[in-house]
Amino acid sequence: MTSQRTRQRLVQRLKDQGVTDIRVLDVMAATPRHIFLDEALSHRAYEDTALPIGFGQTLSQPYIVARMTEILLNAAGKLQRVLEVGTGSGYQTSILAQLVPQVFSVERIKPLQDKARERLRQLGLRNVELKHADGGFGWPERGLYDGILSTAAPRQVPPELLEQLAPNGVLVIPVGGDEQHLHLIMRDGDSDKFVTQVLEPVRFVPLLSGVTR
Ligand code: SAH
Repeated sequence: MTSQRTRQRLVQRLKDQGVTDIRVLDVMAATPRHIFLDEALSHRAYEDTALPIGFGQTLSQPYIVARMTEILLNAAGKLQRVLEVGTGSGYQTSILAQLVPQVFSVERIKPLQDKARERLRQLGLRNVELKHADGGFGWPERGLYDGILSTAAPRQVPPELLEQLAPNGVLVIPVGGDEQHLHLIMRDGDSDKFVTQVLEPVRFVPLLSGVTR
Protein backbone atom coordinates (compact mmCIF):
# COMPACT_ATOMS: atom_id res chain seq x y z
CA MET A 1 0.00 0.00 0.00
CA THR A 2 2.63 2.45 1.02
CA SER A 3 5.48 0.92 -0.88
CA GLN A 4 7.79 2.43 -3.43
CA ARG A 5 6.06 0.30 -6.09
CA THR A 6 2.67 1.82 -5.32
CA ARG A 7 4.16 5.27 -5.68
CA GLN A 8 5.82 4.32 -8.96
CA ARG A 9 2.40 3.35 -10.28
CA LEU A 10 1.07 6.74 -9.24
CA VAL A 11 3.96 8.44 -11.04
CA GLN A 12 3.26 6.38 -14.18
CA ARG A 13 -0.34 7.63 -14.08
CA LEU A 14 0.89 11.21 -13.74
CA LYS A 15 3.08 10.71 -16.82
CA ASP A 16 0.12 9.24 -18.71
CA GLN A 17 -1.82 12.38 -17.83
CA GLY A 18 0.90 14.58 -19.32
CA VAL A 19 3.11 15.57 -16.38
CA THR A 20 6.63 15.69 -17.83
CA ASP A 21 8.88 17.52 -15.38
CA ILE A 22 11.27 14.88 -14.12
CA ARG A 23 12.09 16.85 -10.95
CA VAL A 24 8.42 16.84 -9.97
CA LEU A 25 7.92 13.17 -10.86
CA ASP A 26 11.00 12.17 -8.85
CA VAL A 27 9.87 14.06 -5.76
CA MET A 28 6.35 12.65 -5.99
CA ALA A 29 7.82 9.16 -6.27
CA ALA A 30 9.87 9.76 -3.15
CA THR A 31 7.21 11.37 -0.94
CA PRO A 32 4.85 9.23 1.16
CA ARG A 33 1.32 10.61 0.66
CA HIS A 34 -0.28 8.29 3.21
CA ILE A 35 1.21 10.13 6.18
CA PHE A 36 -0.81 13.21 5.20
CA LEU A 37 -4.09 11.38 5.77
CA ASP A 38 -5.90 10.04 8.79
CA GLU A 39 -5.30 6.35 9.27
CA ALA A 40 -8.80 5.35 8.15
CA LEU A 41 -8.09 6.82 4.71
CA SER A 42 -4.41 6.14 4.32
CA HIS A 43 -5.04 3.00 2.24
CA ARG A 44 -6.41 5.30 -0.46
CA ALA A 45 -3.43 7.63 -0.47
CA TYR A 46 -2.10 6.56 -3.86
CA GLU A 47 -5.35 6.81 -5.74
CA ASP A 48 -5.34 9.79 -8.05
CA THR A 49 -8.13 11.56 -6.25
CA ALA A 50 -8.70 14.35 -3.75
CA LEU A 51 -9.31 13.02 -0.22
CA PRO A 52 -10.89 14.58 2.89
CA ILE A 53 -8.58 15.90 5.63
CA GLY A 54 -11.31 17.16 7.99
CA PHE A 55 -12.88 20.60 8.48
CA GLY A 56 -14.50 20.26 5.06
CA GLN A 57 -11.09 20.49 3.38
CA THR A 58 -9.32 18.15 0.98
CA LEU A 59 -5.86 16.95 0.15
CA SER A 60 -5.53 17.85 -3.53
CA GLN A 61 -5.49 15.16 -6.21
CA PRO A 62 -1.88 14.10 -7.00
CA TYR A 63 -2.32 15.13 -10.64
CA ILE A 64 -3.14 18.72 -9.70
CA VAL A 65 -0.29 18.88 -7.14
CA ALA A 66 2.12 17.71 -9.83
CA ARG A 67 0.67 19.98 -12.49
CA MET A 68 0.71 23.15 -10.37
CA THR A 69 4.24 22.44 -9.21
CA GLU A 70 5.38 21.84 -12.77
CA ILE A 71 3.72 25.06 -13.98
CA LEU A 72 5.43 27.01 -11.19
CA LEU A 73 8.88 25.51 -11.86
CA ASN A 74 8.66 26.01 -15.60
CA ALA A 75 7.28 29.55 -15.55
CA ALA A 76 9.67 30.95 -12.95
CA GLY A 77 13.30 31.86 -13.44
CA LYS A 78 15.18 31.28 -10.21
CA LEU A 79 12.89 30.07 -7.44
CA GLN A 80 14.44 30.87 -4.09
CA ARG A 81 11.39 31.78 -2.02
CA VAL A 82 7.91 30.35 -2.55
CA LEU A 83 4.69 31.15 -0.70
CA GLU A 84 1.88 28.61 -0.52
CA VAL A 85 -1.64 29.73 0.40
CA GLY A 86 -3.57 26.85 2.02
CA THR A 87 -1.19 24.46 3.82
CA GLY A 88 -3.99 21.94 4.43
CA SER A 89 -2.41 18.54 5.04
CA GLY A 90 1.04 19.83 4.11
CA TYR A 91 1.43 17.44 1.17
CA GLN A 92 1.85 20.14 -1.48
CA THR A 93 4.09 22.00 0.97
CA SER A 94 6.33 18.94 1.31
CA ILE A 95 6.62 18.59 -2.48
CA LEU A 96 7.60 22.26 -2.82
CA ALA A 97 10.07 22.01 0.06
CA GLN A 98 12.02 19.35 -1.81
CA LEU A 99 12.30 21.50 -4.93
CA VAL A 100 12.74 25.04 -3.62
CA PRO A 101 15.22 26.42 -1.03
CA GLN A 102 12.66 28.30 1.09
CA VAL A 103 8.94 27.63 1.45
CA PHE A 104 6.44 29.73 3.39
CA SER A 105 2.92 28.44 3.86
CA VAL A 106 -0.19 30.01 5.35
CA GLU A 107 -3.26 28.14 6.65
CA ARG A 108 -6.43 29.58 8.23
CA ILE A 109 -7.47 26.42 10.17
CA LYS A 110 -5.20 25.96 13.19
CA PRO A 111 -5.62 22.17 13.76
CA LEU A 112 -4.74 21.49 10.11
CA GLN A 113 -1.63 23.61 10.46
CA ASP A 114 -0.60 21.76 13.63
CA LYS A 115 -0.88 18.38 11.91
CA ALA A 116 0.96 19.62 8.83
CA ARG A 117 3.79 20.92 11.01
CA GLU A 118 4.17 17.52 12.65
CA ARG A 119 4.29 15.72 9.28
CA LEU A 120 6.88 18.10 7.82
CA ARG A 121 8.99 17.53 10.92
CA GLN A 122 8.59 13.78 10.51
CA LEU A 123 9.91 14.09 6.95
CA GLY A 124 12.83 16.21 8.14
CA LEU A 125 11.86 19.18 5.98
CA ARG A 126 13.33 22.15 7.78
CA ASN A 127 13.16 24.78 5.04
CA VAL A 128 9.47 25.51 5.64
CA GLU A 129 7.91 28.24 7.74
CA LEU A 130 4.21 28.00 8.60
CA LYS A 131 1.84 30.75 9.63
CA HIS A 132 -1.72 30.62 10.97
CA ALA A 133 -3.43 33.48 9.13
CA ASP A 134 -5.71 34.47 6.30
CA GLY A 135 -3.50 33.79 3.31
CA GLY A 136 -5.63 35.96 1.08
CA PHE A 137 -3.37 38.71 2.36
CA GLY A 138 -0.25 36.71 1.59
CA TRP A 139 2.57 36.93 4.14
CA PRO A 140 3.99 40.40 3.54
CA GLU A 141 6.66 40.19 6.27
CA ARG A 142 8.39 37.32 4.43
CA GLY A 143 7.96 38.58 0.86
CA LEU A 144 8.75 39.22 -1.88
CA TYR A 145 8.30 35.76 -3.39
CA ASP A 146 9.65 34.33 -6.63
CA GLY A 147 6.58 32.12 -6.74
CA ILE A 148 3.19 31.97 -5.03
CA LEU A 149 0.96 28.92 -5.25
CA SER A 150 -2.59 28.94 -3.92
CA THR A 151 -4.42 25.70 -3.21
CA ALA A 152 -7.72 27.44 -2.46
CA ALA A 153 -9.76 29.34 -5.03
CA PRO A 154 -10.74 33.01 -4.70
CA ARG A 155 -13.39 34.48 -6.98
CA GLN A 156 -10.90 37.16 -7.92
CA VAL A 157 -7.15 37.28 -7.53
CA PRO A 158 -6.27 39.07 -4.26
CA PRO A 159 -4.18 42.16 -5.10
CA GLU A 160 -1.97 41.47 -2.04
CA LEU A 161 -0.68 38.30 -3.69
CA LEU A 162 0.27 40.20 -6.84
CA GLU A 163 1.99 42.89 -4.75
CA GLN A 164 4.10 40.26 -3.00
CA LEU A 165 5.55 38.85 -6.23
CA ALA A 166 9.24 39.58 -6.78
CA PRO A 167 10.31 40.91 -10.20
CA ASN A 168 9.38 38.28 -12.80
CA GLY A 169 7.66 36.32 -10.03
CA VAL A 170 4.82 33.93 -10.86
CA LEU A 171 1.50 33.21 -9.20
CA VAL A 172 -0.29 29.90 -9.83
CA ILE A 173 -3.85 30.07 -8.53
CA PRO A 174 -7.28 28.55 -9.17
CA VAL A 175 -9.82 31.32 -9.75
CA GLY A 176 -13.63 31.18 -9.84
CA GLY A 177 -16.70 29.93 -8.06
CA ASP A 178 -18.67 26.94 -9.34
CA GLU A 179 -16.46 27.06 -12.41
CA GLN A 180 -12.77 27.54 -11.81
CA HIS A 181 -9.70 27.77 -13.98
CA LEU A 182 -6.07 27.62 -13.08
CA HIS A 183 -4.43 31.00 -13.69
CA LEU A 184 -0.74 31.60 -14.29
CA ILE A 185 0.12 35.23 -13.61
CA MET A 186 3.57 36.68 -14.18
CA ARG A 187 4.92 40.00 -12.97
CA ASP A 188 6.55 41.71 -15.94
CA GLY A 189 10.06 42.53 -14.71
CA ASP A 190 9.88 44.87 -11.73
CA SER A 191 6.90 46.74 -13.14
CA ASP A 192 3.35 46.68 -11.85
CA LYS A 193 2.27 44.96 -15.06
CA PHE A 194 1.00 41.40 -14.82
CA VAL A 195 0.51 38.93 -17.64
CA THR A 196 -2.22 36.34 -17.10
CA GLN A 197 -2.65 33.00 -18.80
CA VAL A 198 -5.87 31.10 -18.14
CA LEU A 199 -5.12 27.37 -18.08
CA GLU A 200 -7.16 24.23 -17.43
CA PRO A 201 -10.47 23.91 -15.54
CA VAL A 202 -9.99 22.81 -11.93
CA ARG A 203 -11.97 22.21 -8.74
CA PHE A 204 -10.62 23.58 -5.46
CA VAL A 205 -12.13 24.47 -2.11
CA PRO A 206 -12.85 28.21 -1.86
CA LEU A 207 -10.41 30.72 -0.42
CA LEU A 208 -12.23 31.87 2.72
CA SER A 209 -11.53 34.92 4.79
CA GLY A 210 -10.62 35.06 8.46
CA VAL A 211 -9.10 32.30 10.59
CA THR A 212 -10.38 29.33 12.63
CA ARG A 213 -8.83 28.37 15.96
N1 SAH B 1 -2.27 22.10 -0.23
C1 SAH B 1 -3.24 21.38 0.54
C2 SAH B 1 -4.62 21.57 -0.01
C3 SAH B 1 -5.62 21.76 1.07
S1 SAH B 1 -7.19 22.39 0.54
C4 SAH B 1 -2.85 19.92 0.65
O1 SAH B 1 -1.99 19.47 -0.12
O2 SAH B 1 -3.40 19.21 1.50
C5 SAH B 1 -6.96 24.13 0.68
C6 SAH B 1 -6.59 24.67 2.02
O3 SAH B 1 -6.68 26.09 1.94
C7 SAH B 1 -7.53 24.27 3.17
O4 SAH B 1 -6.76 23.70 4.18
C8 SAH B 1 -8.15 25.59 3.62
O5 SAH B 1 -8.38 25.67 5.01
C9 SAH B 1 -7.10 26.58 3.17
N2 SAH B 1 -7.58 27.95 3.02
C10 SAH B 1 -8.75 28.40 2.49
N3 SAH B 1 -8.82 29.74 2.53
C11 SAH B 1 -7.64 30.15 3.11
C12 SAH B 1 -7.12 31.42 3.46
N4 SAH B 1 -7.76 32.56 3.21
N5 SAH B 1 -5.90 31.47 4.03
C13 SAH B 1 -5.20 30.34 4.30
N6 SAH B 1 -5.65 29.11 4.00
C14 SAH B 1 -6.85 29.01 3.41
